Amino acid sequence: MLVVGLTGIIGSGKSTVANMLSEQGASVIDVDRIGHTVLDDGDIKIKLQQEFGREIIDENGNVSRKMLGDIVFKDKAKIKKLNALLHPKMIQIVEQKIQERKQSDIAYIIVEAALLFEMGLQKQVDFSVTVTAPEEVCIERVHIRNNLPREHIASRMKFQLSDQEKRERADIIIENDGALNELNQKVHKVHNWLLSRSDMNMA
Ligand code: ADP
Repeated sequence: MLVVGLTGIIGSGKSTVANMLSEQGASVIDVDRIGHTVLDDGDIKIKLQQEFGREIIDENGNVSRKMLGDIVFKDKAKIKKLNALLHPKMIQIVEQKIQERKQSDIAYIIVEAALLFEMGLQKQVDFSVTVTAPEEVCIERVHIRNNLPREHIASRMKFQLSDQEKRERADIIIENDGALNELNQKVHKVHNWLLSRSDMNMA
């Protein structure tokens, strides 16, 4: 069973590519979503509160992602502390999900993570794919998708590896600088290539 990492800067088109691969039969593990779910873990919630203060807990007793983001995305040291609290649990869940899915008869698993390399998750995968587009295009896409100010998106981008660094580390690069149907064709080629390398060669 092939395990494939999928990354790219915010707005590059990772989720779009993951959806396209999922339509082709890939099984997708969404690491960013796992990051959201671990915020509900009791132990982690307590540690986050100790580290960042009571104000990160909302009126329902849940961790407010907005408050947490506002606090940590100003300060690299705080991001480091947050990552140190969240990443070990997230990696453990990803490893568990990979093991569970390895028993099934799917062709390959996609581990979709904005921070694939930063988390060291490339060690869990056979190949890594980076989706790439010019930073200003990515910012514009996220501006439209989430209705966030452009400066806000650009400042958060600075806390991740750059597009260039991700490209250098990836085994496969998907350029997403054109229309969506063009992207679909590229993704189809990558899918066929991955199938040809999986032990369940269905191509
Ligand atoms: P990421 O998961 O990397 O943050 P998404 O896949 O969510 O990025 O893409 C960001 C936004 O840009 C989404 O609204 C998506 O529909 C749109 N998008 C992605 N690729 C293209 C493209 N080639 N042309 C037009 N819109 C795109």
